[in-house]
Amino acid sequence: MRLAHLTWTDIAALSTDTPVLIPTGAVEQHGAHMPLATDTILVTAVAEAVEARLTDRVILTPTVWLGASLHHLPFPGTLSASFDAYHLALNNIIVSLADHGFHRFMVVNGHGGNADSNRIVLRELKHQRPELTLAYQGYYDLWPAELCAEVMEGPDRQIQHACEAETSLMLHVQPDLVKMDRARDDGLRPESGFAGGIWAFNEITEAGSLGYATLATAEKGKRLFEAAVEGVTQWVESCANGVTLKGIVGSGTI
Ligand SMILES: [Zn+2]
Repeated sequence: MRLAHLTWTDIAALSTDTPVLIPTGAVEQHGAHMPLATDTILVTAVAEAVEARLTDRVILTPTVWLGASLHHLPFPGTLSASFDAYHLALNNIIVSLADHGFHRFMVVNGHGGNADSNRIVLRELKHQRPELTLAYQGYYDLWPAELCAEVMEGPDRQIQHACEAETSLMLHVQPDLVKMDRARDDGLRPESGFAGGIWAFNEITEAGSLGYATLATAEKGKRLFEAAVEGVTQWVESCANGVTLKGIVGSGTI
């Protein structure tokens, strides 16, 4: 069910045990070859495919399109929330529904820059509203770990930013918005073993993308997309069925 397509009376009639799936995206630069809305387009496509499979077992909210993209602001067209604004928006979406009894919230992310924020928002909410079941994952966290190594040809066998994997996904989902003639391999790394650096994207790329975008194909994108839909579907279903916690101190279902 898509929340935005229902009436308030439809929502009032639903079981409050129904999991609520909240996609988080961004509008930020994706190199010279991909549209600013890439993360929003991809996470929305995955979430809508999951909703189509689970129908009345999930409530899908509209995608939070204004992401935490401060590190992309040196490139024009990027729109970013401050961290405080992003945290408040996600918190307020959840609280709006939690105040009507819904208690299972799952945030599916399409933009790496939102990951820390999603964790902070849910961690704070868990403290404020201990009755809630809360979870977050990137759609790319839920496909099999070995999939990127199998599907991708370039040396960077992981999804990054406007890279081989993400460009492939867009070639599958919305090819008319990809300008492959402008795709380039890009990405700079520190020469020494400097770890944990915080970078803006104009420092670590020349044109805004990371990895080997020129190797992207729609076929690779199809495999990644279908695996993402399968992974997110299983994740939401496991919540809809009730999560059992089990261990040395006993067990319980939430
Ligand atoms: Zn992206």
